[in-house]
Amino acid sequence: MSQTLYPETSRHSGFIKIINKSLADLWFFLRTNRWTSFTSETVRPMLILIHALALCAVFVRPTWKDLALFISLYLATGFGITVGFHRLLTHKGFDSPGWITALLAFLGTASMQGGPLWWVSVHRKHHQQSDRDADPHSPQYGFIHGHMGWMFKKGGLESYPKLVRDLATNKFLVLLDSGPLSIVPWLTTIIACYLIDGFRGIVWGVGVRTVFVWHATWCVNSVCPRLGSKPHKLRDNSGNVWWVGLWALGEGWHNNHHAHPRAAIHEFHWWEVDLSAYFLRILESVGLIRNVVRAGPETEIQKG
Ligand SMILES: [Zn+2]
Ligand SMILES: [Zn+2]
Repeated sequence: MSQTLYPETSRHSGFIKIINKSLADLWFFLRTNRWTSFTSETVRPMLILIHALALCAVFVRPTWKDLALFISLYLATGFGITVGFHRLLTHKGFDSPGWITALLAFLGTASMQGGPLWWVSVHRKHHQQSDRDADPHSPQYGFIHGHMGWMFKKGGLESYPKLVRDLATNKFLVLLDSGPLSIVPWLTTIIACYLIDGFRGIVWGVGVRTVFVWHATWCVNSVCPRLGSKPHKLRDNSGNVWWVGLWALGEGWHNNHHAHPRAAIHEFHWWEVDLSAYFLRILESVGLIRNVVRAGPETEIQKG
């Protein structure tokens, strides 16, 4: 991507520079119609637009219908990330039939965190290089970098195709990752929210919900290493934070997860609430998934 396609705004600084840069990105996004391209030029305006949409909630007092839409889509797209992208596609934490894999990948893509292959490749890189220089979102470069700043850095959205060769044979995942199908999950939720609840539905079911899920995911990479407890002594800084655990549907038990990356159940004690684990147990009990990996010696990484 040529850097000369839109002008730099070097004569400004601080907030003005960010606004100018964002407007330039937005113009580039609209002008080139790169709706399916996952680059910093398309991601930055998307982040800003969705946050702006969420801010409209200040003027749209929620009804029970708005809240029901928000909660149901938060759980559906959140589990798409935690159970689908993370515990199934990245770590192979359980076995599922093709239609469950496809449904979870569809829901994960609807959370607007990129396609499944890109997301998984970045997360596998993160586990491989935790808190080393090559970690895509280590908070060792600052809290904001670990939270969301890494996506704004040059090369921050790089994908690692070699790390997802196993998934590249699944045509549906490849279609969700790039090309026209990649925006179908977003459009589906946007249209459904509008049909159910009009503009209010878009504000609460798309704007607020997406921002809520985004920051939950990002807190795992920013808050957990900073504030988290570290019951497992590991090479990296991954930590457990109970409120991120609740908010991010169990992903806040991040130190547990780094100690046993393949385990699909992240709660090691009854008080470590992992809503994704509850969901997995339900799916397992009705026979929809099998071989759910629990923490044990075979899932433990080498300490030190
Ligand atoms: Zn991690
Ligand atoms: Zn992981």
